[in-house]
Amino acid sequence: MKKLFALAAMALAVCAHAQDFPAGKPVTIVVPFAAGGPTDRVARDLAEALRKPLGGASVIIDNVPGAGSSIGAAKVARANPDGYTLLLNHIAMATVPTLVRNVPFKVETDFEYLGIVNDVPMTLIAKPSLPATNYKELTAWIAANKGKINLGNAGIGSASHLCGLLYQSAMKTEMTPVPYKGTAPAITDLIGGQIDLLCDQSTNTSPQIEARKVKAYAVTTPRRLATPLLKDLPTLDEAGLKNFQVTIWHGLYAPKGTPAPVLRKISDALKAALKDADFIKREEALGAVVATDGRIEPEGHKKFVAAEIAKWSPIIKAAGVYAD
Ligand code: ASP
Repeated sequence: MKKLFALAAMALAVCAHAQDFPAGKPVTIVVPFAAGGPTDRVARDLAEALRKPLGGASVIIDNVPGAGSSIGAAKVARANPDGYTLLLNHIAMATVPTLVRNVPFKVETDFEYLGIVNDVPMTLIAKPSLPATNYKELTAWIAANKGKINLGNAGIGSASHLCGLLYQSAMKTEMTPVPYKGTAPAITDLIGGQIDLLCDQSTNTSPQIEARKVKAYAVTTPRRLATPLLKDLPTLDEAGLKNFQVTIWHGLYAPKGTPAPVLRKISDALKAALKDADFIKREEALGAVVATDGRIEPEGHKKFVAAEIAKWSPIIKAAGVYAD
């Protein structure tokens, strides 16, 4: 009986805390990549847009990079499920289970799904000194430099890793992978000429393309992009790599077991943030599209990730790009 009372009292306390959320404590969004990269950029813009709908709470970013997002994701999977620790991660949530053998968390069961944030194209970019001036010349350069090309990535399972693996498989060429803790440091080395090529989200590459600090050759989306800066880049599909399509999406997660009233508050705040005109403008300027469909609901998000796992698993296996 005593035990029952104790349990009931505990449940009431959790409910009371849930009603107060967020009670004067900052909400932390864990970004599983280095600061200054595309996931970090989306998270910082989103944090800004979430502040008002979360009743003025401060929303801060904690960069926990490494292992293609697995270290940060595992940290959130094990965090206190009280709503104050969230994860913003991208397509890695759907590709890591196939690409990596020993994942330190279970995508399907260790998280509460809060909603998809945006869809982001990737761009194939190169160091500024690479002589090719268009995609056709790039393919000739790749053929002439077999065995000598360094391709950056943000760790096994990351978007750049996936894109790079699929690209090498489509081109039937092996390049030397150079892993970083995110594509912010990778792009710095690309600009410096320490690596040759990188496939990265337009949200990270657009400013560098505009400033002519890197060379851009193609986009990975099924159609060309509408943004004035990137509209002249061919799709890889039209450049000859049939059906080469990679679109990156970002989603927000909480640890499994976060109380339902807290989850509702966060997902309502997320939906409000996705309608924030400044947030939409910032994303669009970098080639990203803010989500408006059913995926912004927790259920829609969960179904979408399951569909993405089902979609990518056979593609990754067929391309033979399975990693240890
Ligand atoms: N763009 C990175 C990736 O390749 C992630 C990042 O640095 O935000 O997955």
